[in-house]
Amino acid sequence: MEVFDTHIHSEGKSVEDLERMAEEGIKRAVTCAFYPIEPKFPETLIDLFRKLATFEIERGKSVGMELYPAIGIHPRCIPPKYERVVESLEEIECVAFGEIGLETASDLEIEVLKEQLKLAKRLDKPCIIHTPRRNKVEVTEKTLRILQEVGFPESLAVVDHATKDTAKMILNAGYYAGLTVQVGKLSAKEVYEIVSEFGFERFVLNSDTGFDKADMFATAKTVRFLEEKGIDKSDVERLAVKNALRLFKL
Ligand SMILES: [Zn+2]
Repeated sequence: MEVFDTHIHSEGKSVEDLERMAEEGIKRAVTCAFYPIEPKFPETLIDLFRKLATFEIERGKSVGMELYPAIGIHPRCIPPKYERVVESLEEIECVAFGEIGLETASDLEIEVLKEQLKLAKRLDKPCIIHTPRRNKVEVTEKTLRILQEVGFPESLAVVDHATKDTAKMILNAGYYAGLTVQVGKLSAKEVYEIVSEFGFERFVLNSDTGFDKADMFATAKTVRFLEEKGIDKSDVERLAVKNALRLFKL
């Protein structure tokens, strides 16, 4: 079965890695903006977005992987004069804003997230919203409150790195929940348990593979695991591809 990995950082992967992922069935992926060190200049991120929207797409294409760029300011890489970066989001072609969101939920992070959400709402642009490892439940609650404050459309946001503890509140708020299969995040078995409890309609799958040591085949392996567990093919397909196509309007 073909798989859509809804959150990777392709820049951290070699072209051979991308080729192997495509061979494993991961034919599509959203490549999210993240800068591994704190940027000193807003232009650092603007050039990064340009790279994702051009060079990265071509690298994917050359090995049979359709890459879709997501651009935005990650809470861990807010540059000075961030407003300039927000302005640039309107000018660079992308399928989504991401990853954006909160890490520590500082006042600055909240301000930057809100500005990006307001722009996304005006542009009708889907958003990939990061939640942190620390204080996951509390920060997810805060994130959902911000989405509601902004009046952000339910069909346009995925609240990512969801867990058993946060899936319910995300779904109750009406948004998509992103299931990240990775060491330190979810196992394939936990994904199975979550979708068995909450259904398949509002989940998307991703590996968050990129700069760190990670299993880049995690989404394909999870899909195989669900098939082996006897989950209906149409349900697996929704989780593996169809929900993502709907969310990103592809
Ligand atoms: Zn990420």
